[in-house]
Amino acid sequence: MAVPPADIFKDGLAQLVATDRDWVPKGESQSLYLRPFVYASEARFGVKVSEQYRFIIFTGPVPALYTHPIRVKVETEYIRAARGGTGFAKCGGNYGGAFYPTQKARAEGYDQVLWTRGETAPTIEESGMMNIMFVIKDKLVTPPLSDSILDGVTRDSLLQLAGELGYVTEERPVTLQELKTAFEKGWITEAFGAGTAAVVAPIRTIGMQGVDYSLPVYHSHCLQNRIKQKLENIRIGKEADNHQWNYIID
Ligand SMILES: *Cc1c(COP(=O)(O)O)cnc(C)c1O
Repeated sequence: MAVPPADIFKDGLAQLVATDRDWVPKGESQSLYLRPFVYASEARFGVKVSEQYRFIIFTGPVPALYTHPIRVKVETEYIRAARGGTGFAKCGGNYGGAFYPTQKARAEGYDQVLWTRGETAPTIEESGMMNIMFVIKDKLVTPPLSDSILDGVTRDSLLQLAGELGYVTEERPVTLQELKTAFEKGWITEAFGAGTAAVVAPIRTIGMQGVDYSLPVYHSHCLQNRIKQKLENIRIGKEADNHQWNYIID
């Protein structure tokens, strides 16, 4: 696929936001969603790499998402992304296959699916269309990046901010067995999805092989709320943007 030049990408985003500035919502945690994408646009029959591409950015205001803790179901039958596949990329083809298992989970009373990988000792991958994070024994734990896990910017930012706030962070595989033990021993105190739209999507229940495991109620000073608040403060200019994450459009 052709890669759009960096200046067209950046200038395109800036011009679109400047044009649609009146659509930027003012409320806390609301945002103007920006979705750049590229698709093959060559008019031709056949399965081959296209010689023409179109780069588009669409936008629209979105409300605060996942304000209430959600219930997720551990999925061990269907997969989101395969070893050697395209799960690491935000590639359209990754999402179609997720609808059916997600619908099934909804019919069973869950909001989202917790994807796993591997058959003998399944490990946790992602939560719906977000990266997944746990607090186990007071450490922030998240699965390591691989070809089946999307390298989310929110995951990366939250890992950095947690470290700066003095939390120990670990990027390592989390098996289902470890999760079960962590619930049984009371070691796990938080679970949440991490992604641009919601920043943090708190999880209240994890359904594993027919058993629902509950997380404690989240208070304002828990890890996920502290790092979420810090990231939002940086976004809205309440705290110094020491990492130069913001791109200001005047
Ligand atoms: C978009 C997405 C994420 C989160 O990525 P961000 O860059 O933080 O928005 C995680 N996993 C999947 C599968 C995604 O599509």
